[in-house]
Amino acid sequence: MGEVLNLLSETRGLVCIECGRCTGICPVSRAESRFSPRSVLVRMIHEDVEGLKDNPHIWYCLTCGLCSEVCPMELDYLQFTALTRKIANRLGEEAYCSHGGALQSLMRIMTDPKLKPDKFQWAEGLKFNKRSEIGYFTGCLPFFDTIFYDLKLETGSIARSAVRLLNRIGIEPALIPEERCCGHDLLWMGDLENFRKLAEHNIEVIEKQGLKKVVFSCPEGYRTFKLDYPRHFGSLPFEVYHIFELLKGHKFETEKKTITYQDPCRLSHHLGLDQLPRDIIASTGLDLVEMRHTRRKSICCGVASWISCTVYSKRIQLSRLEEARATGAEILATSCPKCLIHLNCAQQDLPEGDRIPIQDLLTLIS
Ligand code: SF4
Ligand code: SF4
Ligand code: SF4
Ligand code: SF4
Repeated sequence: MGEVLNLLSETRGLVCIECGRCTGICPVSRAESRFSPRSVLVRMIHEDVEGLKDNPHIWYCLTCGLCSEVCPMELDYLQFTALTRKIANRLGEEAYCSHGGALQSLMRIMTDPKLKPDKFQWAEGLKFNKRSEIGYFTGCLPFFDTIFYDLKLETGSIARSAVRLLNRIGIEPALIPEERCCGHDLLWMGDLENFRKLAEHNIEVIEKQGLKKVVFSCPEGYRTFKLDYPRHFGSLPFEVYHIFELLKGHKFETEKKTITYQDPCRLSHHLGLDQLPRDIIASTGLDLVEMRHTRRKSICCGVASWISCTVYSKRIQLSRLEEARATGAEILATSCPKCLIHLNCAQQDLPEGDRIPIQDLLTLIS
């Protein structure tokens, strides 16, 4: 029981009073009644590591963090899930990976230090300064364009927009030529070994490049550097910022459009940054109309870490899209490339008239 007991005490799993509030709010439980966050916990208390074997429910959680917002006992369900999957991974249990595991393979390939990823074509024509102490972390954006070419989303343009906006407020950042995937998805799948390799590599190359600040447009990369790298490696030798933190206080002229906004879980539930994107929207010509579930009550886009994309994901996505359409907004804005991909993907089966254009917020502003 040692390892499981440690996990339960570290995440306050033993103080659960079985009130069921987590199950009541969990988007997965609402879409798939056989799943409940509490039952995963209870099974581990009763069965120890045996409760992880052949238990598909340990991979269902979207790691959105919504349940932790309502838990009266302040149970850390996110960390509970991360640690549970770490043990499951070691036991040889596997998540069902979307797209045949192509994205996970890509992340694992990137752990090879000899690799030279050629992913900066998006940066042409923008202003960079190799000697800048501020770096822009591109992450996996350019690869998504290739993998999801059929969705025609141009996720690479999110990076272009981010740097264009930084240029507009007087920042010419440096690219980070040796950067790799931040390891977010591998961490949440329990593959600590490869997460650590990616993280160690990134910390080392950023330090070697002499960067003092690193700016992220991807909420997942930002969360990973902000919370997970320090958790695993101690304080970092540089500061990390989400781009919204740097854009705040500036004005941006845009077309006048009505938008609604999908809060990325990593910003809202994980980091409590639900006001920041709204401050940015308020500094533009965009009008925001909120969905029914918004800010700290917002619902995830239905898939996390490219695992367990299944029928309940589709239900969550379709209901989220319905909420967005009900606002009457012209555009559903997101600030997470994966929300953009998953929600656009979910719309593909809808008749043209039932769809809402989905766009990245930075792209809308730049
Ligand atoms: S909300 Fe918290 S205390 Fe209540 S059942 Fe869920 S984990 Fe347990
Ligand atoms: S983190 Fe989200 S998906 Fe996971 S159990 Fe909690 S509410 Fe459900
Ligand atoms: S893709 Fe967006 S909404 Fe989905 S888990 Fe990641 S941050 Fe949350
Ligand atoms: S929603 Fe679409 S893009 Fe996202 S994991 Fe599922 S199949 Fe892939």
